[in-house]
Amino acid sequence: MPSPVVRTEKLCCSYRVGRVLEDVSITIEAGDYVGIVGPNGSGKSTLVQALIGLVPISEGSASIFDVPCGRFAGWGRIGYLPQSLHLVNPVFPATVAEVVGLGLLSQKRFPRKLKRQDRQKVLETLESLGICDLREKLIGELSGGQQQRVLLARALVNEPELLILDEPTAALDPETRERFYALIGEINRSRGVTVLLVTHDSGAIGQHATKMLYLDKRVLFYGSFEEFCCSKDMSEMFGTHSQHIICHRH
Ligand code: ADP
Ligand code: MG
Repeated sequence: MPSPVVRTEKLCCSYRVGRVLEDVSITIEAGDYVGIVGPNGSGKSTLVQALIGLVPISEGSASIFDVPCGRFAGWGRIGYLPQSLHLVNPVFPATVAEVVGLGLLSQKRFPRKLKRQDRQKVLETLESLGICDLREKLIGELSGGQQQRVLLARALVNEPELLILDEPTAALDPETRERFYALIGEINRSRGVTVLLVTHDSGAIGQHATKMLYLDKRVLFYGSFEEFCCSKDMSEMFGTHSQHIICHRH
């Protein structure tokens, strides 16, 4: 049996205000597409940031690819798209191809320079997301949906085995959002990339993800949508109507 991609045991995280994550124990297997949902402030971003070592773990443990989080050196295996899009400065004078190339540069040692095969990789990634025609455009000239695709391209250019996306669709209109979810689903199925997607869109994610993690400081539910649907606890928590809107299975 291959080892899981992500494993946490009784993971707790605290800020100065106190504990925001408590006793989170989950296992994510290779090829899973996990939708992480929960109310605002429920610790979704903190969890993914703890996994990639951006937020310290106060108690418990977490590992990615069997390596304890925080000491992780295998960045090439993870693609991360942060929640905040502040890095897309509208007057930042970089083209789409340059922004995506940054995803390759971060793996390189000094002197950091893209080679010809790197530029080819950038083009292939843009092509696979259907945005090759945007490659010479400035990032600030693009629509929200286009910018989101460019950032996804930057997260994918290293061919990661694990893709972590924090509210990637928040700025998108419903139609573009659906297309984006479908695209992630396609990447998950065709390339076997394990996906962790944070969203507050609990009504839509059931159509795309294979598992749901419902977080509210603690894990309220973690499992498949079928399990969610059959769970009496979840009926009590959400009511059967909302339960079925979330599960999308019947
Ligand atoms: P979510 O992503 O589910 O909205 P977060 O993980 O961002 O939730 O936040 C969980 C809690 O931690 C919230 O109460 C938030 O205010 C607090 N929090 C998040 N980031 C910080 C930080 N850098 N410093 C202090 N408190 C934070
Ligand atoms: Mg968040």
